Amino acid sequence: MRFDIVTIFPGFFESVFAQGIVRRAQTERLVEIRLHDLRDFTHDRHRTVDDRPFGGGEGMVLKPEPLAEALEALGIGVKQGSEGAGEQGSGTRVILLSAQGRVFTQALARELAALERVVLVCGRYEGVDERINELYCDMELSIGDYVLSGGEPAAAVVVDATMRLIPGVLGNEASGEFESFGAADAQIDVDVEGVPRSQHGAGGLLDYPHYTRPAEFGGLVAPQVLLNGDHAEIRRWRREQQLRKTLKNRPELLERAELSAEDVRTIDVLRAGER
Ligand code: SAH
Repeated sequence: MRFDIVTIFPGFFESVFAQGIVRRAQTERLVEIRLHDLRDFTHDRHRTVDDRPFGGGEGMVLKPEPLAEALEALGIGVKQGSEGAGEQGSGTRVILLSAQGRVFTQALARELAALERVVLVCGRYEGVDERINELYCDMELSIGDYVLSGGEPAAAVVVDATMRLIPGVLGNEASGEFESFGAADAQIDVDVEGVPRSQHGAGGLLDYPHYTRPAEFGGLVAPQVLLNGDHAEIRRWRREQQLRKTLKNRPELLERAELSAEDVRTIDVLRAGER
């Protein structure tokens, strides 16, 4: 899979992509990340990428010509069809990072991981001339309800969350399914021998808490159930912890989660305990 990132700060990504799994995925050629300096697509002495906003107001706007030229150089053309309807070829998605976009989720990361190529356009200043969005971009994407000073951290988040779902990138191919926001039990056909997971997949819930040695730390003892080696017991405990944590930190996730009858009973007990 290939990511193309259009940015005025390519240097931003140097350390971000040079560590851990992202780095390994690149060395193993599972992922290719290409950085494109927007200033290389300017033609004036000052390599100008921004201009003042029409209609007045604060700040500057990334002007359309260098962005269009950068995208065309990547083989991205003006979308066909009516405004916003066209796609940039089936295996490619052109994404504008924007606080006004739809919110990035694990489900969307899974969708992107199935593509051949994702092009990420990083805004700066007050944002990007809207015509770039209308002419070239398949979607506007936000990483959350807050405003960053540039699209670069958002692009790094999208690359990181997406590439680790590409088969072969994580050591254990199934592990993405068992994490927070993971797949539901029914969607999991991989059996991980001898490793007691949460009841199975996370099914839209948050992950359970993790512990390692030493068994006692800071006056706190790791839960006894994890030390006993009873896999069925461990699975039950982990599932309960997932429900507990989700109820506490992200109760709205429970509405969409795939819950068993036993889960529903557990939640009732947890809720009763809160009162
Ligand atoms: N005026 C804009 C904010 C511009 S911030 C607004 O109020 O919506 C400058 C750039 O940072 C944006 O063009 C975008 O590329 C990036 N950015 C800011 N917040 C973001 C977010 N939550 N998700 C993704 N990109 C974001």
